[in-house]
Amino acid sequence: MGQGIKLKKLSTRECELMQMPTLSSQTPVVFNESAEFSQLTAYCKMCDHEVPESLVTGKVVHLNAHTASVEGVAVCPACKIATPINYRLHSDGRVSGSSPTTGKWGVWGARNKTLMKYICDLLLFRA
Ligand SMILES: [Zn+2]
Repeated sequence: MGQGIKLKKLSTRECELMQMPTLSSQTPVVFNESAEFSQLTAYCKMCDHEVPESLVTGKVVHLNAHTASVEGVAVCPACKIATPINYRLHSDGRVSGSSPTTGKWGVWGARNKTLMKYICDLLLFRA
């Protein structure tokens, strides 16, 4: 783990996100009773371990009735590095974001745990 990862300094935006409330304080993310994301879990890009929710900060913004953006930073206490979080939640239960392997924007089904693990762990998704 961690091979091929380039480290860089946090951007001003990422520093701002670190001052924001925890993402867990902004859950559940609910779409008109049609879908609910109860937990937004982040994983460290370096060691692949789950980052404690108290160290995952940022903000959830409802863009419209069907889409919410999640932007934040997860700081791993073991690696002392920050993993940027940037993805979108959709009212049909899908999540879209950059692929950890290709960097291309992609869409994941809520129950695809292997790919989902990188982005977040959607427990108790209610369709
Ligand atoms: Zn780590």
